[in-house]
Amino acid sequence: MIRVGLGEDLHRLVRGRRFLLGGVEFPSRRGELGHSDGDVLAHAVTDAILGAAGLGDMGAIFPPADAAWKDADSMILLRTAFERVKKSGWRLVNLDCVVSCEKPKLLPRRDLIRASLARTLELDPAAVFVKGKTGEGLGPIGKGRAVAARAVCLLEKS
Ligand code: MG
Repeated sequence: MIRVGLGEDLHRLVRGRRFLLGGVEFPSRRGELGHSDGDVLAHAVTDAILGAAGLGDMGAIFPPADAAWKDADSMILLRTAFERVKKSGWRLVNLDCVVSCEKPKLLPRRDLIRASLARTLELDPAAVFVKGKTGEGLGPIGKGRAVAARAVCLLEKS
């Protein structure tokens, strides 16, 4: 049996926060606002794997109202979700992602992000891909006020 999963997230970009994608920090004047560390890509991936397994979503498992997740490392949240997915008998086959932001440029750190996600999700880095897009100067993403991420994944159970 195979199943696909989809995750999507958007965070505001503000001064005084770190800019994180898949556990990799970028030099940036602005970073992601969030209850956790704000890692928008980690959040999209978490929702993709949970959704594919039918296990709920990030908001249900790590409620923003719960002080326990304040400034939480989103890669640890992703790992926690992945453990649940594995416990349900699923194996992750591959992951494909898109990050939309005006800056910083994703490309110089793309392979670091792939390696970071692959390590956390016990995948070969070749099974993880991340693409960077801009907002073409339009809307909150194009104006540099937000970053968005989308992720799709495939799960397999024998
Ligand atoms: Mg989020």
